[in-house]
Amino acid sequence: MKLFEVLSKDIQYVKNVGPQRAKVLKKAGVNTLEDMLYFIPRDYEDRRKIKKIGQLRPGERAVFIGEVWSASVVEKRTDIFEVIFRDDTGIIKAKWFNFKASAFKKRFAEGKRFLVVGDVRYNRYERCLEVVHPETRDYELVDLEKFARILPVYPSLEGVGQKTVEKIVDSCIKELEAVYEEYIPASILSSRSMPSLPEAFRIVHFGLDEPEKLKARRSRGHYRLIFEEFFLTQVALAMRRAGVRRIKGIAFNTNSQLLKRFISSLPFELTSAQRRVLKEILNDMAKPEPMNRLIQGDVGSGKTVVAVAASLVAVDNGYQVAFMAPTEILAEQHYRNIREMTKGLSVNVALLTSSTPRGEKEIILRGLLSGAVNIVVGTHALIQERVNFKALGLAVIDEQHRFGVMQRKALREKGENCDLLVMTATPIPRTLALTVYGDLDVSVIDELPKGRKPVITRVITPKDREKAYAFIESQLRKGRQAYIVFPLIEESEKMDLPSVLEMYPLIAERFKEFRVGLLHGRMNGQEKERVMREFKEGKIHVLVCTTVVEVGVDVPNATVMMVEGAERFGLSQLHQLRGRVGRGEHRSYCLLMTSSEKVGSTSYMRLKVLEETTDGFKIAEEDLKIRGPGELLGVRQSGLTEFRVADILKDREILQDARRAAFNLIEEDFALMKPENRLLKEVLERKGILERLSYVEGG
Ligand code: ADP
Ligand code: MG
Repeated sequence: MKLFEVLSKDIQYVKNVGPQRAKVLKKAGVNTLEDMLYFIPRDYEDRRKIKKIGQLRPGERAVFIGEVWSASVVEKRTDIFEVIFRDDTGIIKAKWFNFKASAFKKRFAEGKRFLVVGDVRYNRYERCLEVVHPETRDYELVDLEKFARILPVYPSLEGVGQKTVEKIVDSCIKELEAVYEEYIPASILSSRSMPSLPEAFRIVHFGLDEPEKLKARRSRGHYRLIFEEFFLTQVALAMRRAGVRRIKGIAFNTNSQLLKRFISSLPFELTSAQRRVLKEILNDMAKPEPMNRLIQGDVGSGKTVVAVAASLVAVDNGYQVAFMAPTEILAEQHYRNIREMTKGLSVNVALLTSSTPRGEKEIILRGLLSGAVNIVVGTHALIQERVNFKALGLAVIDEQHRFGVMQRKALREKGENCDLLVMTATPIPRTLALTVYGDLDVSVIDELPKGRKPVITRVITPKDREKAYAFIESQLRKGRQAYIVFPLIEESEKMDLPSVLEMYPLIAERFKEFRVGLLHGRMNGQEKERVMREFKEGKIHVLVCTTVVEVGVDVPNATVMMVEGAERFGLSQLHQLRGRVGRGEHRSYCLLMTSSEKVGSTSYMRLKVLEETTDGFKIAEEDLKIRGPGELLGVRQSGLTEFRVADILKDREILQDARRAAFNLIEEDFALMKPENRLLKEVLERKGILERLSYVEGG
């Protein structure tokens, strides 16, 4: 395809560019012709409406015709040149700070008329309207036809002016037009009255639509560009999903006695959300194709119980289950919980981590191979080469965003087209889930077990530290426990942030009547485990730690979560930390302390969100606004959340539209084999979208 040759052409060799300008453009990230096309105006200026001076309002960028009434260097401020323009409705001042007085005096001769474009503001001291450094054109010389249009406003480039950018873009569009063949199906374009790609660039770059639509990124051109970006990834996702559907998997018999016994043995009733999600999972498991399901549920919503129920169905069918967690502490805890939950059901559960003693490890490995072990819980140790199963039927991955995509894939490949269940307590806003997990089915446990009281959250500053300690002490006296979490292990010269090692002795001294434990990532596995166990057993009252306690740790007697340097954490992460308390019958508290009194007001307001809501989805949306999707999910490598024009947050409705179109298309032609879809397939391949996808969830 000629198209890709043109798109990847070095910007230097585009007409009107040359080495000098190319240097400037490349510095701004514009390396190819395609980059130039996607160098989208950041705003538009409507020059079609020429106003009377009397109509001008502060805050607007306006065009008016003014006659020079006076022009001179300001007497008291000789660094300012001032022109007073007038028409029959009023006057306005124009000011320049860089000027050659003689040239300016000559240009702005009294009585001469100018077309003036500038940002109007109100000068409070002089009590008049003014424009600073406006653009001025000799009215008699202006070609009004050419002038009166919607002008693109590009991000400024040192040394390449706006008009030059327009000229270069024009050359790029012409080159694109010469080789362009449409690859988005005609019916999809026409039903949305979307233009071709070159036409879309023309509209976007040269402002050929309503100014309001252009400014709102909703011109026909913008729509095409945004739609296209979403559409291509969604087509790829739909293809992947359709592909998985055609693989033969295990059709489990879900009418399981073991499952029934398990459910009736639980000391509680499943919530209706848990029942619904379990049903969705069992439906998938019964089908003769591999399950690809994500369970989303806030911390404490009871995902683990549901996953264990599904596991027992696999076990009852003679298959094995691998249950992978991101940390040893978590794996250990899952192991103990699962053993406890399945007591009396004759299920053999094993724990495999990197600190499992060698002899024990050999026994487990043999048990996996022979089928004697039914459920193995573990960390990354599960995906080592030496781990082999007799018949792995279900892979469960907890806190899946903590794993690299390759690791998830590796676990799954321990079985033969086994079912996959991934769980996350980092609620992914639905729109984002559609993009990132587009080929996963998503179940949401959107209900907490009855009787849970929401955690009371307060944002505080360091001057409140002693008050916070006094509060913690009052809780300890009632027999409760507390976490105090720090952003750093050790003091750092670069950042003025509190650290565990620095604060631990002080806290131990402050709470000397109690036992204060220390937990951080640099301790060895055994030590960590000992501290965690003692905390769990209530022997340690205050746990001073880093975020190693973040996920999944379950100590119902702990009622205070204090986080120091809280502004350093993402909101979702804080929400996770907060989820460590409020897990038992007692009222719980979360104290978020900033690292200094003077933390910026945006950081402060951001933390305040946590005071107001415990809805993980809302919190994730806030996070997404601030941090962007890649960081939130740790999926930067997937490249699925980074677009040139499209924005997952602002363009949700276009994402939905593109997704629908893509999935319908793949329904009709799942491998894009029809001749009319050949170009589309080639574009997906050439853009590397299919390839990138193979690293994403589910594969
Ligand atoms: P998650 O993994 O979603 O954070 P867990 O599965 O660890 O949540 O459950 C949190 C706690 O709630 C556990 O102690 C669990 O036994 C308990 N639990 C789970 N489901 C229910 C329920 N339906 N009613 C009461 N308690 C429940
Ligand atoms: Mg959990």
